[in-house]
Amino acid sequence: MGLLLKIILFGVAVYAAWKTFHRWKGLWDKFVGRPDEPARPAPPPPPSESLATRKVAIQDTVQCAGCGAYNPASAEKCGQCGRPQPRPQS
Ligand SMILES: [Zn+2]
Repeated sequence: MGLLLKIILFGVAVYAAWKTFHRWKGLWDKFVGRPDEPARPAPPPPPSESLATRKVAIQDTVQCAGCGAYNPASAEKCGQCGRPQPRPQS
């Protein structure tokens, strides 16, 4: 009977420690913040990206047959009228 009592007391102690740990962890998360939430801010785009996209847009443009607007060749539809762009023949 003593062994069973010890097991039950041990289980209760582990349960209490677990609950306490989770409560303190919740408080810690509330005040300090989760470790992986603020550690990943949106990285600013590299300055060369806009130049590269502009260069690509200048190089690979397709004129829309519907409205005559120039769209990037990678675009699926025309940005002006929404007409599907013809696939570049290669
Ligand atoms: Zn168009």
